[in-house]
Amino acid sequence: MSSCDKCRGKAIVHIKYSGAHLCKTHFSDFVEKRVRHELRKQMDLKGGERIAIAVSGGKDSTVTQHIVHKILGPRRSMDLCAITVDEGIGGYRESSIPLVAKNSSHLGMEHIVVSFEDLYGITIDEIARTEHGLATCSFCGVMRRRAMNLAAKDWRATHLATGLNLDDTCQSILMSFARGDIERLARLGPHRKVQKGLVPRIQPLRSIPESESTLYAVANELEYHDLECPYAPEALRNQYRTVISQLEDKSPGTRHSMLKSYDSILPALSKMFPPSALRTCSCGEPTNSDKCKACEFVERVERERLT
Ligand code: SF4
Repeated sequence: MSSCDKCRGKAIVHIKYSGAHLCKTHFSDFVEKRVRHELRKQMDLKGGERIAIAVSGGKDSTVTQHIVHKILGPRRSMDLCAITVDEGIGGYRESSIPLVAKNSSHLGMEHIVVSFEDLYGITIDEIARTEHGLATCSFCGVMRRRAMNLAAKDWRATHLATGLNLDDTCQSILMSFARGDIERLARLGPHRKVQKGLVPRIQPLRSIPESESTLYAVANELEYHDLECPYAPEALRNQYRTVISQLEDKSPGTRHSMLKSYDSILPALSKMFPPSALRTCSCGEPTNSDKCKACEFVERVERERLT
């Protein structure tokens, strides 16, 4: 490995899309600088913000928790907490919750755990055993979003930070295009507009590739949970993951170009699909129709159980 372009120290990484060779310190600075930029772009920091961070314990959410704490933690007017959703995935989630609790306590951050069992009376393992029409992740994604929104509201959060990285964002963009779901494309977030009942989501790692998030975690000796969810191989986005990493391998910088293109068309998309007037589901959560998607899913599973 060559030496660092900035200090001539030993480089730990060659960033193909920029050509830079960076040592541990300058690589960490490189990542943190872009996260700082994203936080400024995504939020109007006026003081008094309460930021809930969704932390599963995986590398991306652990890196998000660490960097957001490093950048915003020292501000006196800022409150941070970590929220973990326990979906009820045997052999997987039990080991990540204590790790998040340990990391949060080390950072002096409150740690809140919200479980599907308490919230919906059903776990993802039970859903996986019952439901055969849809991928388990489709249920989990919707139910987790509601769980996080509820926990963030309970904590009176002004923002909810998630660990979505650049690869995740590009996969979502491509998936929405491929399905012709342009309305969904307009709503991918981060969310600057506040809608009643919904805590606006921010995505601090939005411009950080997954490989850089992993390297940041390793270089900074962050302890994270590296087991794979047993349902992950079923996820529809895996096909998009492969396509995007092949494109990036052949043409370094493709992911950043996709993000830039998406950001350029976002104002037009937002005009085409302004936030709709939200109604309230019988569970109390905001919804576009009579019933929120999480309640729809829970009822569907209940019906399947009875047949
Ligand atoms: Fe849920 Fe799927 Fe993620 Fe597992 S991989 S935590 S089932 S969304």
